[in-house]
Amino acid sequence: MAHAKVVAIEEHFWTPNLQAEAMIGVPAGLTPHWYTGLSDLADRRLKEMDEAGIEFQVIAHAPPGAQNKPAEESVRLSREANDMLYEACRAHPDRFGGFALLPTPDPEAAADELERTVTKYGFKGAMIHGLTHGSFTDEKRFWCIYERAAALNVPIYIHPGPPHPAVIDAYFKDYPTMVGAGIGFTFETATHAIRLSICGLFDKFPSLRIILGHMGEGLPFLLWRCDMALSRDKGLKRKFQDYFREHFYITTSGNFSYPALTCVAAEMSTDRILFAVDWPYASNKEGREFIDNAPLSPHDKDKILRHNTAKLLRL
Ligand code: MN
Repeated sequence: MAHAKVVAIEEHFWTPNLQAEAMIGVPAGLTPHWYTGLSDLADRRLKEMDEAGIEFQVIAHAPPGAQNKPAEESVRLSREANDMLYEACRAHPDRFGGFALLPTPDPEAAADELERTVTKYGFKGAMIHGLTHGSFTDEKRFWCIYERAAALNVPIYIHPGPPHPAVIDAYFKDYPTMVGAGIGFTFETATHAIRLSICGLFDKFPSLRIILGHMGEGLPFLLWRCDMALSRDKGLKRKFQDYFREHFYITTSGNFSYPALTCVAAEMSTDRILFAVDWPYASNKEGREFIDNAPLSPHDKDKILRHNTAKLLRL
């Protein structure tokens, strides 16, 4: 059997033209610990991978990418980001791969950009960062993106983006740390995943695969209860939990909790868990040690670190 690499698949970078968007929520004058890492597509990234025994990264742009730009600008900036990422992959083909950034404000162009980057650049799929001008991608006008992903046999990674301004105003404005990983990202991305599950998308594209980070954004823990309520919808062809278990993969990014890992293993099985760090927001070493010391068999750890991702992304 060929050596399967240790692969981390929610690892970020940014382009100079999309940095300002990704700094939303960071107080003025403060340089966050992750600031310089996002700009590095070479030495520092490789050094921190080596120190943690991470052999390969699938790299994606930081949120929210170009999803809230006007359509034409979004197309141009997404293409620029993908070209920049491809240059890094080309310089280090045995260490880096890519998930495309998509110009979701123009869904047809987004589908075309997915195809271009998968067929020409060897990208492994794409990452979508939450809302597009306030809309989730279960709306029919976005389905062409998922249709193309299914045709290309690549997954779409649904990643958090900033919550809707009305949600921030109603729920979080008194407590700014709630907007992001405090809970806002989780509500936002879990909502996105549920909407995709119950909108009929998977009936139309039965081979479509979706990846969720952060141990599934709370959904594995809530699967029984969400299923009880969501499956009352007589319009659903299958139960919510069946869509979720069949179409979703869960990564360990930025959520290094053993109770959470054990819950995902119990609800989804270890075949559905993929290793990810969320570098540079989270530490490679901490992520790797989390799996090495996990209460799982060596066989399961190997599946999570290497084999599940190699199979899904055809590495
Ligand atoms: Mn992330």
